[in-house]
Amino acid sequence: MRKTDYKYIIIGAGVSGLTTAYYLLQNRETNFIILEGRDRIGGRVLTKNTIDFGPAWFQPNHKNLSQLLNNLGIEKFSQYSKGKSIMVYNTNGPAHYFESDQTQPSAYRISGGSNNLIKKLSNFVEDKIVLNTQISRISEIENKIILTSNTNTFSAERVINTLPPKLATTLNYSPKLPNELNKVMHKTQTWMGHAIKVGITYKTPFWREQNNSGTIIGQFGAVTELYDHTNASKTNFSLMGFVNQELREVSAETRKEQILAYLEKHLGSKARNYLSYSEKDWAKDKFTSCPNLEDVYMSAHYGNPIFNSAYLNGKLLFSGTETAPYFGGYLEGAVISGILSAQKLLNTTKN
Ligand SMILES: Cc1cc2nc3c(=O)[nH]c(=O)nc-3n(C[C@H](O)[C@H](O)[C@H](O)COP(=O)(O)OP(=O)(O)OC[C@H]3O[C@@H](n4cnc5c(N)ncnc54)[C@H](O)[C@@H]3O)c2cc1C
Repeated sequence: MRKTDYKYIIIGAGVSGLTTAYYLLQNRETNFIILEGRDRIGGRVLTKNTIDFGPAWFQPNHKNLSQLLNNLGIEKFSQYSKGKSIMVYNTNGPAHYFESDQTQPSAYRISGGSNNLIKKLSNFVEDKIVLNTQISRISEIENKIILTSNTNTFSAERVINTLPPKLATTLNYSPKLPNELNKVMHKTQTWMGHAIKVGITYKTPFWREQNNSGTIIGQFGAVTELYDHTNASKTNFSLMGFVNQELREVSAETRKEQILAYLEKHLGSKARNYLSYSEKDWAKDKFTSCPNLEDVYMSAHYGNPIFNSAYLNGKLLFSGTETAPYFGGYLEGAVISGILSAQKLLNTTKN
């Protein structure tokens, strides 16, 4: 049986938690464990059948993520954008077309899918991850933090909580967290916690063959943003996009039919000759979202300085992309928060 008492415990095996673990190991700190509620690692990173249902892109100025990818030997490639892109302004009028300037740097994608980052990071810490362990209570008892989960009770000298802050308000804390912190946590929206993504794979990239980039942008359609999502080695051809949230509560069949009809309208009848069709609604995932989720893309509360402090007498730290002082919400923010948390544990920066 696994021991339950550690120097450090990280709650959550998303990018932030795994990055902290990676840096702890780089600094020869091995007395820690990662407790993960889901039956998989990665958190909001989810790649299935080469489709990124979570994050898909990063930007040239995401330096910490770029450095981490380099360290792990992971390559990047540019988002495909050649040919005609489509802008839909209203439901009845004709679509407008535009072409992306191919001389400008585009967003990057991670070779092997975003999950490649998770796979490579977890290679170092596989034996330290405990899945299916949902934390419900964080208590300070004497000189330890006690974590109550659905499976076991764990204790540590210090704990890093990487849950999105809004979701972290659903845990019980003893003693209670300060009111001011609680208020900020409630107001910190979970980045993309409301998004619905769709991924459709095809035998051939038929849109490329008809000089379409695969990009369709427009708030009125069944899909508000659609992109070419062919993999780096060009062996799997797919389109991936964000579903209009008005379709959240219709039946799965109706939603799928509306999405395929929209693609057919703009890309032609070949859009219906797909190999596979999948969706992911993050608002319905209890390990990312929680009730009272508001539909916003950006929150002024990301990186609130209140997350710099440690709580429960210096034993509880908050991490995760929404707490990052820069690029909060993005993968870059998750990596930054992961590095900062490791530094705080290793006492290389002041709390
Ligand atoms: C649809 C979508 C599209 C996105 N697109 C992009 C993009 O293109 N580019 C970009 O840079 N970023 C994008 N993001 C954001 C990116 O995914 C996040 O910044 C990043 O993955 C956050 O990592 P994290 O570790 O901070 O949080 P999370 O990944 O949320 O990790 C938290 C972990 O805690 C676990 N957990 C939750 N509750 C409990 C509990 N009670 N007990 C134990 N464990 C628990 C979760 O399962 C999870 O593994 C997107 C996100 C989504 C959802």
